[in-house]
Amino acid sequence: MAVAQRGPGGRAAVVDLEVSDWSDLDPNFTRVCSSATLQSDRRGFFLDLAEEVADEAGLGFVEEFGRLPDDARRLSACHAHPRVRDRVRAMLASVQPVYRDKAADVSAQRRLEGERVLRGSNARGALTALSQAVMRAPASGQEPLLALALWARSEALLQLRHFQPCLDDVQLSMRSGLPEDKRLDAFYRMGLCQHGLGDVKRAAASLQVAARLLDRVASAAERTAWTATIQQAMGALRVPREGKPSLPVQAPAGPAPPLAAGQHPQMPAASSLLRVSRSKAAGRQMVAAQPIRTGDTLVVEAPEAACLLPDKFGTHCLHCFGRLLAPVACATCSGVAFCGRACLSAAEPYHRHECRHLGLLLGSGMSVLCHLALRAVTQRGLAFLRGLRGHLPPESGPDAAPAPAPAALSDEQRRFLSVCALEAHEDRRPARDFFHRCIMALFLLRILQDSGFFPEASSVEGDLNEDEILVGSILLRLLQILQFNAHEVYETVILPRPAPKVGEAPQEPRSKFRSARVVYIGVAVYPTVALFNHDCYPAVTRHFRGKDIVVTATRPLAEGDVVAENYGPIFTKRTLAQRRRTLNSRYWFHCSCAACAEDWPLMEQLAEDDFKFRCPAAGCEQTMRAPRAQDAVGQARCPRCGRDVDLDAVRGRLQAARAGFDAALDAMERDEPKAALPWLCRFLDDMHALTRPPVRSVHLAQEALRTCLADAGNLLLHLGDIEAGNE
Ligand SMILES: [Zn+2]
Ligand SMILES: [Zn+2]
Ligand SMILES: [Zn+2]
Ligand SMILES: [Zn+2]
Repeated sequence: MAVAQRGPGGRAAVVDLEVSDWSDLDPNFTRVCSSATLQSDRRGFFLDLAEEVADEAGLGFVEEFGRLPDDARRLSACHAHPRVRDRVRAMLASVQPVYRDKAADVSAQRRLEGERVLRGSNARGALTALSQAVMRAPASGQEPLLALALWARSEALLQLRHFQPCLDDVQLSMRSGLPEDKRLDAFYRMGLCQHGLGDVKRAAASLQVAARLLDRVASAAERTAWTATIQQAMGALRVPREGKPSLPVQAPAGPAPPLAAGQHPQMPAASSLLRVSRSKAAGRQMVAAQPIRTGDTLVVEAPEAACLLPDKFGTHCLHCFGRLLAPVACATCSGVAFCGRACLSAAEPYHRHECRHLGLLLGSGMSVLCHLALRAVTQRGLAFLRGLRGHLPPESGPDAAPAPAPAALSDEQRRFLSVCALEAHEDRRPARDFFHRCIMALFLLRILQDSGFFPEASSVEGDLNEDEILVGSILLRLLQILQFNAHEVYETVILPRPAPKVGEAPQEPRSKFRSARVVYIGVAVYPTVALFNHDCYPAVTRHFRGKDIVVTATRPLAEGDVVAENYGPIFTKRTLAQRRRTLNSRYWFHCSCAACAEDWPLMEQLAEDDFKFRCPAAGCEQTMRAPRAQDAVGQARCPRCGRDVDLDAVRGRLQAARAGFDAALDAMERDEPKAALPWLCRFLDDMHALTRPPVRSVHLAQEALRTCLADAGNLLLHLGDIEAGNE
């Protein structure tokens, strides 16, 4: 995804085309944008194939298809067309399940390589090769390759004092058939790890088991050596052993911030400061139920479904999005990795249906949004979805509310239904686009049939059965909805500090924030956050803790104000024409927010001292140009209320507010984001009371606020920094 040019995350854009001619409405560009939400990789086969199928079905069929009233009928009509059905079936039949298979020889070779590096006392260097040995090792075979790979890696982890992953590897290795002669050593390693994790009782028990195994050691010299080693470890139990955090992974520390003013009674992920308003013009949207202050935490929400980007499969856990230290693989494929056993088993229910088809899914070139639709279905399973039959929201109308859900449904089912009720722009979707989406739904449905998602034998030849129509319609619905409602998940990467050149004095230590970069790692759908409307001058910012989203206010709001987020194009970085074109083409609406209506300048054109302040008279809405440093001050008359305004006093108040921003910048320069936060919030509250946007320092402070908040979220400190700082 080409996202480098965009701001700090948006809705899943998938496409970010740079075009020189920024006309506002361009059906061709809209079509390209929409297609990209189906197929994002140009090398894939999906769109070409869908086009061919549409041509074969004929224009008349596609147009008739476009007039069908609901997803179930659309799906059935496509499936009933013999040519369409044949082509979708051929898509799967001609491409055998392709996935990154296990490879015994690669595993053994990588293990030997890793062991060699380990003997050279480079434990961190050995970790990569040993992890590859683990990932590629077949779970069964003549040699216990998986056990041996895990065993070798546990030694590297022990040297690095990463006790938890080391313990996991030792235990998993014993369960995978570790040879008998390594059992003594295995219990000894477990004892050391448990000691390091502060569990002295278990550590003593493990060392005792190791001691009992001493009589199986054949060589007398070896037995003597082991006896001394175990005794020494026993003796050391009295002294606490220091472990190391699992660097370079830095999991969000501490609990998520509490919701401001407590939890909303109907929306458990939202603060009670929010409410949903409905209007014909804006549909459903979030507004302030009470006054909101900068820094208020408005939503903390887990995704209904989330997908890691394929180019992060080698570096991040498929399930929790955490950085990998000692990855483990599923028993079948080596294409995706998990941070440990817990995520491996948590992912099993859905990965089972994707595992063997992963290569096909990627080869089709399909967008990660299609994968997200599939994941939403696979992770819930058929029994869950069957329970939704009859409750899916009506499909017509731009803001169809979910039908009142009867008590028989679980909270999870209600949540799923609320995703199905999000904006789909069904009435505005061109027939051909709809047809392509339907082919994608049938393609995904075939994969589900093939992976045993449905208990009944798949009905390749005959009509779709009831379950297949239900699941296929849900897929088709999600393929429409996720185009507009998914969010990108990001992490912050802190790049290494440049090393001083030879002969140069070492550089001043610089704040890590200066090299912080936003990197997209996945996409997800959040039922509550999806209800926020767009503004080119958003009122909130997002950061992520694993897959969970945290939404925080970046400016104060009065009761009844719209609480808007930003879908991608923000006014400080994109011109009015660029924003309108993107929003029209990608999200199908015409933006008329204040920044668009008044055509606010880009950040680079905003001068530091060129902005407007609000007339201080109570109730007066007039704004006037703020006095500049070089201006002679004195009195000015408000053209609206006619009162005299003391410019000296205005300048004094602005300077007092500015002192707060300077204090925040100082704290950031000292790498103390927590200390900077209250200063930034106060500055932003003060400035919004005194001035009217756009104000350069205000928007800089908002970006600083996002950076400081994200520091408590997904963060990767570059290895260079870590090793300099901690080793
Ligand atoms: Zn994980
Ligand atoms: Zn797999
Ligand atoms: Zn706008
Ligand atoms: Zn006035």
